[in-house]
Amino acid sequence: QASPSDTSTETTGSAALLERARAVTPGGVNSPVRAFRAVGGTPRFIASAQGPWLTDVDGNRYVDLICSWGPMILGHAHPAVMDAVQQAAARGFSFGTPSENEVALAEEIVRRVDPVEQVRLVSSGTEATMSALRLARGATGRSKVVKFAGCYHGHVDPLLAAAGSGVATFALPDSAGVPASSAHETIVLPYNDVAAVEAAFAEHGDEIACVITEASPGNMGVVPPAEGFTSALRRITREHGALLITDEVMTGFRCSPAGWYGLEGEPDGGAPDLFTFGKVMGGGFPAAAFGGRADLMARLAPDGPVYQAGTLAGNPIATAAGLATLQHCTPEVYDRLDVVAHTIADAASVALAQAGVPHTVQWAGSMFSVFFTGDEVRDYDGAKAQDTAAYGRFFHSMLDQGVHLPPSAFEAWFVSASHDDDAIGHVLQALPAAARAAA
Ligand code: PLP
Repeated sequence: QASPSDTSTETTGSAALLERARAVTPGGVNSPVRAFRAVGGTPRFIASAQGPWLTDVDGNRYVDLICSWGPMILGHAHPAVMDAVQQAAARGFSFGTPSENEVALAEEIVRRVDPVEQVRLVSSGTEATMSALRLARGATGRSKVVKFAGCYHGHVDPLLAAAGSGVATFALPDSAGVPASSAHETIVLPYNDVAAVEAAFAEHGDEIACVITEASPGNMGVVPPAEGFTSALRRITREHGALLITDEVMTGFRCSPAGWYGLEGEPDGGAPDLFTFGKVMGGGFPAAAFGGRADLMARLAPDGPVYQAGTLAGNPIATAAGLATLQHCTPEVYDRLDVVAHTIADAASVALAQAGVPHTVQWAGSMFSVFFTGDEVRDYDGAKAQDTAAYGRFFHSMLDQGVHLPPSAFEAWFVSASHDDDAIGHVLQALPAAARAAA
């Protein structure tokens, strides 16, 4: 059976870089999940990427099923995006004054997502949710926020709290460095549990500024909202004068041209008040956004009292990449994503079933997760019931065979429209041995 220690892949180049990196960077990585802690072994240092393929510094090639955790929807180094980036770079890197592509990217987002009348561009999903939260608090004059266990909204202090299940609990800090005063403003509830939301609002209704939820969670693996859940959030927040923020950083422009909103449609009772976006809208560059109704967005500086700013916000190269990416997300691209995702997920399911490995595949558009548990996953507790050791063996066998899955069982598998039949064939060929390794 494959394990991190008996890998057959040559990784001396990656191992040497990891050692160098560890001396100057905590854990040797700039984002913790890249460190392979959940699965063990040496993270691959990537030298280049093209279409659906990654090439590491040792010359190994991998079919990429991470796709930068979502942004690379068209595949790596897409010619049209490359062209847009090169043209933008030739005109200068950052101006600190407005430029046309910022307007064009905002227009493209507003055109796609009906309830979004205005957006403010920022540089990361974390900034988008942080700013949306500040705006919700500024607009309501309240400070408490409801989030759901298993939902990730970036490393914003009050949103890092993820403890608590069952009834409403005041969360303890989940990360050192998050002050209790910040975490105590956060009420963490189990996902898909309307009764828990009702109970929290019955107790604290007039103190709650907003409910923030992933539009369709992908950060505990893909756990779509149960029928009526988002509508219940809309109804309850309205009843209590709180805002509803839907975080589409992962789902935005991936699940459909208008993200999860475009798939599920408007909740009964009306659209969410604020949306957050990131990932795909930057095409692999740092660009993100938050937006919503114009009257709400007007509360932001310079016209309103809620301050928010960014030296590199609306960066000309990032906006050029994002705009080119969105413009090339045609209906054919979404059709292709569906085909790629279903072909890979179906084959994974068949291989795991043949090897006798309990698993469940869950979907949000073409976004999917293969959970290593036989039960449907409706919340974070369900996701945590997985056999993560089995996933680790599966992951390493796939990696050894040239397929790079997310190095954690709690993630979506991301595909791109560039995953051609050759890349898909490569994945399909690797699955049976990986499933046997997992068994
Ligand atoms: N919101 C969601 C739903 C995400 O998936 C992420 C990142 O994975 C974020 C926010 C944070 O985005 P970023 O990593 O760009 O700060």
